[in-house]
Amino acid sequence: MPYDYDDQNIFAKILRGEIPSTPVYESEHSLAFPDISPQKKTHILVIPKGPYRCFDHFVQAASAEEQLDFFKAVAEVAKQQGLSEAHGGNGYRIISNSGPDSLQEVPHLHVHVLGGEVVGPLTA
Ligand code: 5GP
Repeated sequence: MPYDYDDQNIFAKILRGEIPSTPVYESEHSLAFPDISPQKKTHILVIPKGPYRCFDHFVQAASAEEQLDFFKAVAEVAKQQGLSEAHGGNGYRIISNSGPDSLQEVPHLHVHVLGGEVVGPLTA
């Protein structure tokens, strides 16, 4: 099934500069900024700059360069935020909600990077 993309979603507006954000990381194809409603001490959202609705859409339609850039962005954020064990941190969790059953709220692919404290059980 082909995916549609609503360019009026909040992250598309952030990418166009129509809604303010405070980026903590930016690369050619990706952007990261704090979640407006943090669920843990550290809660960063990493998004691709391209118009992808969810993880499946991204894997289906994004170029290899965009995909690599995105995965590196997630790791770079974990490092920069002092979360990755390889860089003295205590670990972290990444979550990406995809579609209705996951309760995905914003229809632009994003990975939540959560840490800075014990994150807790995998699902509520
Ligand atoms: P989802 O449920 O789609 O996986 O997560 C969407 C996330 O986006 C939520 O954690 C929510 O707090 C966050 N969010 C919604 N609107 C904004 C916004 O305008 N700015 C930022 N930084 N985060 C937002």
